[in-house]
Amino acid sequence: MNVTGTFAITCDHCETEHKFSPDETDFESEYSSERSMGEEIGWEWKYEFNCDNAECAKEIEIEYQVWEYPVGAYNHEIINVNGAQKTESFQYDFH
Ligand SMILES: [Zn+2]
Repeated sequence: MNVTGTFAITCDHCETEHKFSPDETDFESEYSSERSMGEEIGWEWKYEFNCDNAECAKEIEIEYQVWEYPVGAYNHEIINVNGAQKTESFQYDFH
């Protein structure tokens, strides 16, 4: 899976915006199962950091999953962000 675009979140505490480029992510194919149309793959990236506003520095946790099913096709995403709100998601390319 190739990830493109930008992932952006806004800190719940201080409203600082944090942006991530695909280079900063590390998606791994954590899940795989056989379904009626073949293999289903779950890609996952987990990341924890402290808000880079020094006066805030609250912990922010990202749990980002992208599900590919059938192989080569986007199925759905599950994005859980603790301590911030998502404002923009990546795009995905499976070719
Ligand atoms: Zn903050």
